[in-house]
Formats: sequence, structure tokens, C-alpha cells
Amino acid sequence: MSQLESLYAQAARDVAAAGDLPALDGVRVQYLGKKGAIKALLKQTGKLPPEERPGWGQKVNALNKQVTDALEARKAELQHAAEQAALEAGWLDPTLPTAARTGALHPITKVLMEVVDHFHGLGFEVASGPEIEDAFHNFDALNIPDNHPARDVWDTFYLTTGEIPRTHTSSVQIRTMEQRQPPLRIIAPGKCFRNETIDATHLAAFNQCEGLYIDRDVTVGHLKATLEGLVERLMGYKVPTRFRPAFYPFVEPGLDLDIECIFCKGEGCSICKYGGWIEVIPCGMVHPNVLRSCGIDPEEFNGFAFGMGFDRMVMLRYGIDDLRRLYDGNLDLVRKL
Ligand SMILES: [Zn+2]
Repeated sequence: MSQLESLYAQAARDVAAAGDLPALDGVRVQYLGKKGAIKALLKQTGKLPPEERPGWGQKVNALNKQVTDALEARKAELQHAAEQAALEAGWLDPTLPTAARTGALHPITKVLMEVVDHFHGLGFEVASGPEIEDAFHNFDALNIPDNHPARDVWDTFYLTTGEIPRTHTSSVQIRTMEQRQPPLRIIAPGKCFRNETIDATHLAAFNQCEGLYIDRDVTVGHLKATLEGLVERLMGYKVPTRFRPAFYPFVEPGLDLDIECIFCKGEGCSICKYGGWIEVIPCGMVHPNVLRSCGIDPEEFNGFAFGMGFDRMVMLRYGIDDLRRLYDGNLDLVRKL
């Protein structure tokens, strides 16, 4: 009997010492396997006197059950511990601050918000118009009659319906003046489309921001002050500017506002084509013909208009040397700026 008791005691110690499921399985094989200790005891039955055999068999079977029960109990313990460990390792505290990246506004959106804020401060409101225009609003009313060579300048796309994906936001000037009499102060940011060869400074779909101020006795001085203020706000410093005469059919006189090249500070570099200046805002005093086509009397009212190349302004603001980077979906750019 002491042989069975000591075997059980040894088995109980081995079961308790098994630290994980594979170790426990080793203990099971050691005691209950085909070549295990308990099988060996059963094999001894034949060597006993016949009257002792039934009693011995019962006791070995009882030991077999005890060891089996001990193994099962330990197995349940180890499984529970393993589950707990897995739960703790994978536990997520939803209240902890996270390292996840938060969203950011695209540079174009950021600059747009600043432009809108700047002009709100000057009493301008935001106007909008359709991206698909008719020839009247995109050309005719802007003093660009049919067959006028100036139409070629805009590399216009045409739809099969004859409509035009607008080549500039200037069409919104017309739509605003058709609906309302002066005084008018609007800006109209929006997408424009031209059949351009795409490169570092040209895109076929791009953003412009139109501006229009119509009132009595508006002067070039108003135009100059307004745009210089805008450039200073956007660039963050009093960047040197200059106005050059330019021809646009819808303004007279027409002007181009240049700013000193931000990349070379006027020294001359490949981006400013070694001129030291970068053209940013075509502008001018609204042509009397444009006012007339909208039913506004040019003898009573006048004003200025501008069409800022919005994407280019964003480029200059952030020192980006290729327009395409604004649209290539690269999130690093958005996160960095
Ligand atoms: Zn330069």
C-alpha cells in the first residue's frame, strides 16, 4: 500500500509543479501513458497471489482516478491562468491618451480660411457660382467677344453641350453684378479649369480667388492697398511688391501684382526665372464694358477686380516649389505644414 501512497504523493507533487500545459502533459504521460507508472502497477497484478488481485486492481484503478482528477484540476488552473495572462497582455485602456495622429487641414483650406477672414474684415462677402459656365458669363460679359483672340489665351475646355468648365472665377463677378446693384464687395474662391500642360507651376484644375469691389469713386489706390494688405497677411511679413501694367480684356488699366521672390529674396533663382519677382495677382480697374453688360452704369460706378492664383499663393506661403505636391495625396505635407 505504501508503494501506491508514495506514488500518489509523488504524482501530486509533479502535477503541482507543472508550470504550464506542455509540462502538465509530460506529467500525464509519465503516470498515465502506455509506459507510465500506473500501467506498470497494473502489470504487476499477474504476479500477485490470486486472492489479492481484485483488491490490488481496485486500488490501482482508484489511484488512476486520483491522478487523473489531479491532472484535470491542474489543467483547469493553468488554462485559467493563461487566459488571464492573455487578457492582461491585450488589455486596452480607452481612457489613456493615444499616440494616434489627428486630422489636419490641407494647406489650401488653411490659406482659404485666412483669405476669407482677411476680406471679412474689410467688409467683403463670399460669393460663388457654377463651375460649368456658359460662354456669356465666362467670356462675353467679361469683354471677350466671340472670335476675340483673347479667348485663345485661356486654353479653354469645351463640353459637348457647348458649356465651359470655367476658365476663371471672373464669371462670378458677372453673376453677382447681374443680381445686385453696387456697392458690391465680394470674393469668390473656387476651382477653374484650363487645358494646360501640367508642370511644377501649372495644373489643368486649379484654385483661384476672385475679388470685386464696385462703388463710387474707387481708385487704383484702393486696389493697391487692398492687395498689398492681403499679401502681407498671407506671407506673414511686409513682402516687397510691385505693380506692372498688363493686358486683360475685363480691366482697364490692367495690372499684375508681383511680390519679391521668397525663395531668393530678389536675388534671382530658377523659381523666379532669375528675375527676382513672382507674379501673384492679375488685377485692374473693371472695364466699363463689363459694368455695362451687367446693367451697371459706368458713369456712376467703377471699381477694381482681381483674380488671385490661389494655389500659387499657397506654394509661396509654405515655400513649396512644385504645385503638384498640393494634390498628390501625400499626407506628410499636410501634417508638416
Ligand atoms: Zn527667386
